[in-house]
Amino acid sequence: MPVVSNPKRTPMFRLLTVASSGMGSFILGLWGLKSGLGDGFAGTPAEVMVGIMAALCALAAAGAALSFFAGVDESAEYVFEETHFDKLTGLLARPAMVGKIADAASATIRTGEPMFLIDIDIDRFKQINDSIGYSHGDELIRAFTKRLKTCLPERTVIGRIGAGEFAVLLPDHEMGGSVERIVEKLIDEMMEPYQLSSHLQSVSLSVGIVAMPKDGVDPVLILRRSNLALQNARAGGVGNWSVFHSDMGRVADYRQWVESELHIAFERGDFDLHYQPQLDLPSGRIIGYEALIRWKHPERGMIPPMEFIPIAEETGMIGPIGQWVLRKACSDARHLPDDCFVAVNISPVQFMTKDFVGIVRDTMASTGIKPSRLELEVTETAMMQDRDRAAAILQQLADMGISVAVDDFGTGYSNLSYLIDFSFGKLKIDRSFVSRIDTDTSSGAVISTIVGLSRALGVSIIAEGVETENQATLLRAAGCEVAQGYLFGRPAPLKIKPGEIRVAAGIREPLVANLH
Ligand code: C2E
Ligand code: CA
Ligand code: CA
Repeated sequence: MPVVSNPKRTPMFRLLTVASSGMGSFILGLWGLKSGLGDGFAGTPAEVMVGIMAALCALAAAGAALSFFAGVDESAEYVFEETHFDKLTGLLARPAMVGKIADAASATIRTGEPMFLIDIDIDRFKQINDSIGYSHGDELIRAFTKRLKTCLPERTVIGRIGAGEFAVLLPDHEMGGSVERIVEKLIDEMMEPYQLSSHLQSVSLSVGIVAMPKDGVDPVLILRRSNLALQNARAGGVGNWSVFHSDMGRVADYRQWVESELHIAFERGDFDLHYQPQLDLPSGRIIGYEALIRWKHPERGMIPPMEFIPIAEETGMIGPIGQWVLRKACSDARHLPDDCFVAVNISPVQFMTKDFVGIVRDTMASTGIKPSRLELEVTETAMMQDRDRAAAILQQLADMGISVAVDDFGTGYSNLSYLIDFSFGKLKIDRSFVSRIDTDTSSGAVISTIVGLSRALGVSIIAEGVETENQATLLRAAGCEVAQGYLFGRPAPLKIKPGEIRVAAGIREPLVANLH
């Protein structure tokens, strides 16, 4: 065990302490003797008394020195324990992990055997922690650690390097397969829900992989690169992994720019909402509009939501941005036809915040929108983070008369049992199925199945991303009669001309004539 040296307690300092305490005690003894404390020993010669006192003082000094050094050693051990191991999990703490990576780097240079560093992060752990409370957050981390250990070979070096972030060192010979396959299996196992004392908690993970010596041997650089790979994986969606690539540095710089610029953009009023119509195919009537955020940066121009929403979610900026979207969409609804609703995208982070239902209620009260005219689009991922809480939130929204659509349906979870527990009004078939419906027969089968499912559950259905008339025809044949996509209108700003309401520009006359 390496000794942690305390810079304030150099050998000279220790010597001076011992000498001064010994001398101090000796002088104190002499002074006591001189002032008559020795009277009680009347008859004892002064030289003997001095001798006894000196011996006692020397003994005291030796004791002080012993306890002092023992104390130093004890505190060194304490400091070591504190800094070396993570208290919650017993895994290596970040500084110790850096040391292990350095050791692994030296070994890989010596032997030539590649060593992989796998960086595993629980997506949005901070928000999970905030919403379930810190003690359940700790419980989750402990359960996660326990499972991680069982999924990896016995003596694998594992560190907890952030609140919800873990690093694993895996030598090539321990793999028994490609690193990609191992990581995929690990992600599958680690993303199975965790039974906590209060509820079943789902997590999604992002994983970054670097290889030593190929991607470097400097431990700090290696950790930075594994994190870059991890960020890249996260941008790709739920349960993703990425292997480090040199381009990722540029991506990270852009990400940092977006992060620093989001605040300014919000204050400056760069954001706007565009609206995309949703159509009832048989009648050709527009029944609602989806509000989609747009960021127009004064120098860089349009920045797509997929580039800034995930960053806003991670940094917490989604709170104010999401509230702004909700308020603006609800207040814009008065410029839309009375029989149209407005659909607002709700980020998983927003959905799980403590006062989400309260925010919706306040926004409705201040904008005066009727509940029947508001629809919230929430993804499966958002609902699955904490099923019990999600079910309660959905019930509260349903009680308020607000419809919730399950966005990107079919891309998230294969286990559909949650559909029975949740109150929602609509399934929104993801674009990925629609875009392949005319080329891939299995997509058609999936869509028919989802339509059948919606009927069985008694909820509505809509398909998104409809670009061609052929897709629209096939959707109708599959039983899906409500659709949204470039074919019917691209997202466009709301244009309010004087004396005229309800005009959303850029929306084509629906091509329903061809669909009957
Ligand atoms: P989403 O909710 O799945 O929204 C649909 C996306 O598909 C929009 O992209 C829309 O412009 C695009 N789209 C619509 N029709 C078609 C089509 O026919 N073909 C193709 N190729 N694309 C089509 P957009 O506006 O870039 O938004 C991307 C994602 O960003 C949204 O996906 C949503 O997840 C998120 N987002 C957008 N606005 C907001 C918002 O206000 N709040 C939150 N939390 N997320 C938002
Ligand atoms: Ca949506
Ligand atoms: Ca989608």
